[in-house]
Amino acid sequence: MPSVANTYEMLIQSVVDYAIFMLDLEGRVVSWNPGAERIKGYTADEILGEHFSRFYTEEERAAGIPKDALRIAEETGRFTTESWRVRKDGSRFWAMVVIDAIHVNGKLVGFAKITRDMTAQRNAYLAAIESERRFRLLVQSVTDYSIFMLSPEGYVTNWNAGAERIKGYTASEIIGQHFSRFYTAEDREAGVPWRALETAKREGRYEAEGWRVRKDGRRFWASVVVDGIYDNGELIGFAKITRDLTERREAQMELERSREQLLHSQKMEAIGQLTGGMAHDFNNLLTGITGSLEFMKTRLAQGRTADLDRYIMTARMAASRAAALTQRLLAFARRQTLDPKPTNANKLIGCMVEMVQRTVGPEIEVEPVLAVGLWPTLCDPSQLENAILNLCINARDAMPGGGRLTIETANTWLDERGARERDMQPGQYVSICVTDTGVGMPPDVLVRAFDPFFTTKPHGQGTGLGLSMVYGFTRQSGGQVRIYSEMGVGTTVRVYLPRHRGAAKEELDFQSELAEASLAESHKTVLVVDDEPSVRMLVTETLADLGHAVIEAADGPSGLKAVQSDAKIDLLITDVGLPGGVNGRQLADAARQMRPGLSVLFITGYAANAAISNGQLEPGMHILTKPFAMQMLASKISAILAENCDMSS
Ligand code: ADP
Ligand code: MG
Repeated sequence: MPSVANTYEMLIQSVVDYAIFMLDLEGRVVSWNPGAERIKGYTADEILGEHFSRFYTEEERAAGIPKDALRIAEETGRFTTESWRVRKDGSRFWAMVVIDAIHVNGKLVGFAKITRDMTAQRNAYLAAIESERRFRLLVQSVTDYSIFMLSPEGYVTNWNAGAERIKGYTASEIIGQHFSRFYTAEDREAGVPWRALETAKREGRYEAEGWRVRKDGRRFWASVVVDGIYDNGELIGFAKITRDLTERREAQMELERSREQLLHSQKMEAIGQLTGGMAHDFNNLLTGITGSLEFMKTRLAQGRTADLDRYIMTARMAASRAAALTQRLLAFARRQTLDPKPTNANKLIGCMVEMVQRTVGPEIEVEPVLAVGLWPTLCDPSQLENAILNLCINARDAMPGGGRLTIETANTWLDERGARERDMQPGQYVSICVTDTGVGMPPDVLVRAFDPFFTTKPHGQGTGLGLSMVYGFTRQSGGQVRIYSEMGVGTTVRVYLPRHRGAAKEELDFQSELAEASLAESHKTVLVVDDEPSVRMLVTETLADLGHAVIEAADGPSGLKAVQSDAKIDLLITDVGLPGGVNGRQLADAARQMRPGLSVLFITGYAANAAISNGQLEPGMHILTKPFAMQMLASKISAILAENCDMSS
């Protein structure tokens, strides 16, 4: 059984992490353990009897530290320190040192010395201190963000360079002040800063943008984040990060302003186009009216009252065209007087097909695809007819080389999303699609197609009022219109009209309404082309007596222009020999190409002229030889127009 002293000796001799050794009164090494050998590098043989001061650095030896250490240990019983020590190989290590004085029977006999190598721990500690210092430096020197800390009550405790730059206070000015001073007076009154802290406390974070105030009183637009700082679950303050976004906000506002300006200028351009188009059209019509009035005044002064009717007629015609133009504008403005009735779109289209086919010509195949069980819709049937006709004419224009025109009806149900996408109310609709296999629309045309007076057609051919009428009519009727178009493939225009709950009007009713409408339409428009003013006047007067409107032209090209216009023309009366390079026969052919089935009446002094027909007239073409009696002319015109009506009914 080893003695207690032996047990200690064994323990000490097995310790490798601590150098444990004894010194005599002079400081000479008298024992040595494996830890001492490992840490200091000397074997026991090498070091026993050597003075312990050799473990100290030269500087400490020169300063007499080893001697002091023993003296303090002797006086107080213990000396402790941390400092550099030197190994046998000359390298240094950071040592934690304890020297205890050893007394036997009250008498000092030596010292016990325990040394630990703390180099690794010290390095780690220094690294931590360094990284903390660097982190502090980092935060301090950030200038783009104002980063500072608040006490739980909101008093500033730390301040960085960014805070100084953005808010204008130095650290010494502001530390200890309440952070609410950065807020505007209004925000302070409304309690915003205190609510911010409450939110950060409750939710861990508060984020906002708003105006804040600099030291000099100027405002800046701030993006603010406040985070609660917790130490072991206890709120010890807030980290506040503020960015000055004044410039960004101004740039954004500038962008928004310029976007608005762009929108505004686009709107102004559209309005300019609209008013320009209106002014142009009305000017022409006013010229017809004021010109006629002037002539009437002259003729009255001359006492030549026989001519007056002719001018009255011209003025009336211009006025009625002005009224028609106004009507179309009102349609677009959704201000036209509509007469909505429960309407069966299938029936309405069915009655139109023949007329549409005649309008678009034989090169285009018209195909109605009418849904079985189509709901009735509530709208003005004559305007619906008008709208469909406009769409069909556009389709025709898009297919100069022929193609297929489909008019399709369907019941449609729009859910919340579908309705929102189309700017409509959700619900049930009747849809009418007019589809062509034509040229399609490029995107820039598509976005403007509904603009009044927007047309891509040659001057005199398009009015740009077709789609705008369709748009105004469907919107005013509680529906919508959409265009789907692909270049080179074709176009579908889909009209939505709200479903009518309840039955459509009786068929009889509907038919009689159509009949009424066509009765009201008994005014016809006749194009009169003759280079001889007196003949033109005579013919015009005859027509006026019959209650028809007249468009006059004095030569071939202006006749052609009238034919190419949007104007409604029911009959062409033309001389055969005309100035301007286009004779009457050529004019008639061109007119019939654009308006298939148009009735033509040639008035000529030489009926046998081969220019007309080689002796053979096509159906719908007629001839009257000059000179003729007015009565003769009147009955001829009536006969032709009556024949026309038969064909269309
Ligand atoms: P207009 O027919 O007098 O030009 P619209 O308002 O009817 O006036 O049409 C405006 C423009 O929209 C047309 O000039 C044309 O460019 C384009 N457009 C309309 N319908 C079609 C279609 N079916 N296919 C291709 N383009 C079309
Ligand atoms: Mg059109």
